[in-house]
Amino acid sequence: MDFNTDYDYLFKILLLGDSSVGKSSIMLRYTDNSFVSGYIATIGVDFKIRTINIDNKKVKLQIWDTAGQEKFRTIVRSYYRGTKGIILVYDITNVETFNNIKSWVKEIDTYGENVENLLLVGNKNDLESKRQVTTKMGQKLAEELGVAFFETSAKNDTNIEPAFFGLAKKIKETE
Ligand code: GDP
Repeated sequence: MDFNTDYDYLFKILLLGDSSVGKSSIMLRYTDNSFVSGYIATIGVDFKIRTINIDNKKVKLQIWDTAGQEKFRTIVRSYYRGTKGIILVYDITNVETFNNIKSWVKEIDTYGENVENLLLVGNKNDLESKRQVTTKMGQKLAEELGVAFFETSAKNDTNIEPAFFGLAKKIKETE
């Protein structure tokens, strides 16, 4: 008897970055196609699931939010366990969250278990008038880190699909 027929692959994906950059919003946009303006401390879950099709395979994505832990500037080791891909998120209207990306990368180097697939995301690109981080700065950092890069808006649903799809496809190719 085969109990595992509902998917071909299961990938754990972790959203990392400073508090308030929009990690929960990105997760909810992708898994529920919803957006909440205001603080989302109420979700109360560690992860959400979405299953997609890649090259005729069912790929189940288990997407982990950091549930407020980033306020302590560190994510507990258990969050990294089994992680196949990480989305590093900053807020284009807050340069400090961009400058902190490098410390998140350091944490991944310390705790991540051979996570090869990283993606850099500059979120809130609907707020052009408040922009502090140029697209060029994001591209340059992504190049330095050797990772793919997207600017997104969880609010307007900009680039959320391509970001997750691109990462999932890359993970699948390295499986
Ligand atoms: P987290 O702490 O990183 O999980 O951030 P949240 O998802 O809780 O978002 C923090 C705040 O930013 C909330 O008020 C969200 O409504 C808002 N927010 C998140 N994404 C966007 C976005 O793409 N555009 C705009 N304008 N606001 C956003």
